[in-house]
Amino acid sequence: MATTVTLQACPDYDPTRVGAAVRRALEDLPETATLLQPGRRVMLKPNILKPRRPEEAPVCTHPQVLRAVAELCYEAGCALLVADQPAYALGGQREQIFARAGYTEACRGLPVEFALATGAGYREFPVPRALRVQTAQLTRLLDEVDLVLNLPKLKTHVQTALTGAVKNTFGLVAPRQRMDIHFLSYEGLSEAIVDTFAAYRPQLSLMDAVVAMEGAGPSNGAARATGWIAASADAVALDAVAGRLAGFGPGEILTTVAATRAGHGQGDLAEIQILGEESEALGVRLRRARPAPRYPPRALGKLLRGLIYRRPHVAREKCTGCGACRTACPAQCIDLESVAVIDRRRCLECFCCMEACPEEAISAEQSWLARKL
Ligand code: SF4
Ligand code: SF4
Repeated sequence: MATTVTLQACPDYDPTRVGAAVRRALEDLPETATLLQPGRRVMLKPNILKPRRPEEAPVCTHPQVLRAVAELCYEAGCALLVADQPAYALGGQREQIFARAGYTEACRGLPVEFALATGAGYREFPVPRALRVQTAQLTRLLDEVDLVLNLPKLKTHVQTALTGAVKNTFGLVAPRQRMDIHFLSYEGLSEAIVDTFAAYRPQLSLMDAVVAMEGAGPSNGAARATGWIAASADAVALDAVAGRLAGFGPGEILTTVAATRAGHGQGDLAEIQILGEESEALGVRLRRARPAPRYPPRALGKLLRGLIYRRPHVAREKCTGCGACRTACPAQCIDLESVAVIDRRRCLECFCCMEACPEEAISAEQSWLARKL
């Protein structure tokens, strides 16, 4: 049976039009009714790379799209958790992040919980048919939900050409592993992203491409009206369709190529059935991101890692040696001497230890360059 992607025209973020397009896109999928069942807890995973209001820049999934999906899940009787992890943000900034992205206001009146992936800590998930990494360090929030409804934003990307449904799940990966993966070549980066995606594949994905980002994405590009919303139970197929609508040729989106090769979804357009609108009418060629300089040589990567960091620091005078941080640490890199001692070489910079410490003895130590960035 062909993989299904649903496609709906949506010219702007008018709440009524977004609501109707989201409803049709999800309800036309054969899997939705089975997945959205009363009593299930659903994680809505938007893209909050950097919390920005839509009027500032099209960086994040639009709040109206999140609202429309949350309403539909709520009507189906599901409990709702909205979760993501912007780069370099800690648990204490949770309220500001979701408010700044417009999500708190958009979800007003709905029983929605908000969480940062870092707040729950991380654990290892094995990667099936691994291409680059054997285990993914993913948020423990995944253990607390029945399914994930992935809400990517269509954007060009300086390293992976396009960021869509597969790449959006990267926000659930521990910050240290994300950073390590970013030091790979473009091909290696795409394959490693696919690995972390494969460790927990979202059950449904719905893409916000009403206004996309073109040029220097995923955070510094320009807004471009594209006018559509699409959904699928297969994130790889959704990216394949999005790539074609955005004017990319087959084989240009490396995450789609790698995910198809590893058997994590269908990237062959000939095997994808598009329901809804005629896709030819909705195609808008996005201006490509100029590729960032090729990946830094290994030595430079090491140097950058030494210069850009945000890592846990133990205040010896506050530490009681209780061991709560050691228990919480997914990398098992904390030893207890008279106080907690962190092995920085193995630290994932996930800050689970900081969350766990009852004495507030652990804080985030940030390098000068990280603060500037
Ligand atoms: S030491 Fe803290 S920040 Fe580092 S991996 Fe362990 S829990 Fe995470
Ligand atoms: S949890 Fe806090 S107080 Fe307990 S050992 Fe770790 S740093 Fe020390």
